[in-house]
Amino acid sequence: MKIHEYQAKEILRRYNVPVPNGKMVTTLEEADSASKSLFSAGNAAVVVKAQIHAGGRGKGGGVKVARSLEDAHSASKTILGMQLITHQTGPEGQKVQRLLIEEASQIDRELYLGLVLDRAAAKYVFMASQAGGMEIEEVAAKDPDAIYKETINPAIGFQPYQARKLAFQLGLKPTQINQAVAFMQGLYKAFVDTDSTLMEINPFITTKDDKLLALDCKINFDDNAMFRHKDLKELRDLAEEDALEVEASKYALNYIKLDGSIACMVNGAGLAMATMDIIEYAGGSAANFLDVGGGANQQQIEQAFGILLSDPNVKAIFINIFGGILRVDVLAQGVVNAARSLNVTLPIILRLEGTNVEEGRKILKQSDLNFQVGETMKDAADLAVAAAKGGK
Ligand code: GDP
Ligand code: MN
Repeated sequence: MKIHEYQAKEILRRYNVPVPNGKMVTTLEEADSASKSLFSAGNAAVVVKAQIHAGGRGKGGGVKVARSLEDAHSASKTILGMQLITHQTGPEGQKVQRLLIEEASQIDRELYLGLVLDRAAAKYVFMASQAGGMEIEEVAAKDPDAIYKETINPAIGFQPYQARKLAFQLGLKPTQINQAVAFMQGLYKAFVDTDSTLMEINPFITTKDDKLLALDCKINFDDNAMFRHKDLKELRDLAEEDALEVEASKYALNYIKLDGSIACMVNGAGLAMATMDIIEYAGGSAANFLDVGGGANQQQIEQAFGILLSDPNVKAIFINIFGGILRVDVLAQGVVNAARSLNVTLPIILRLEGTNVEEGRKILKQSDLNFQVGETMKDAADLAVAAAKGGK
């Protein structure tokens, strides 16, 4: 689960990790009054920052430094409500519905700090780099030695000597080393306490007066741990998530939207992955990943169908079910009901195997709806690709 920068900074504050003062606003009036109070508190400039879940906002025009109330007003007016396009939003961008109005900082150096769960090592890793302010993925690809790493032993946690080592590698001044150690320890505690899988401070800055600050902060929580963080769960902003994925999560369907034209309905994550592969192999592209689960009922099948059909890119529907706990006849009835009630005109291709497969096929045959059944997964994938290409 992702959260906004202003929410992440709120969490950092609780762990005594220094962040700039600021206020989240949703209207131009609120933005003006937030800017006004920062200027009257003696700040020479404020920063107007778009709050969307994607990074790269600065380059996309979603972060502006303003030196007067008028400038702050026009920056807020431009950014609030804009369709902000960054390398992480996709070409359609993301609508900006919230701003963070913050006191501007006098940047000396822009550094990078990151904590991630290294799944292969089954350990947390603390990363630091002098190449802050830019995309860290790019640094990792072009100059991997520019990223320093400390692997954390889970039995003893992040050790002060590791923080000191990273602080020296960042080339910090002697007067900044202790601040940096406390900063990193606060970050680590916040990371562990919140069951995060990613915490990134980019840029982590030093100021002209030798202070350290988190100028930006990105946090991802582990969804599987959210049951023990009711307070964090409330930070979810559904407006930032794909509408169809939000809808699917209401019905406990595991759905991820993709860009292709063949909608997939599959039971089991492994089979769903294999289905996407075989569609690609047959020359098509999947419109989604959908695992209806092992024990889906008819209602869930109908809901899943509704979600697949709401995607305007879909030209054909490929249903690939291996009936175990989910019986094939139950699925077939669900599909027939859904196709009738939703008036489906798109071609539907099925590949069915497993429990009650004969009953399932009978239900389809008797339905007088137009289904095609593939004998094998490959046959069905070929049919689906042909249907998607030839279809409307
Ligand atoms: P991102 O582009 O989505 O990662 O947004 P960031 O919060 O990292 O901001 C992008 C860039 O804006 C930073 O790398 C800074 O160069 C600049 N920036 C952000 N806040 C300030 C500030 O207070 N003062 C100055 N001078 N620049 C800032
Ligand atoms: Mn950033």
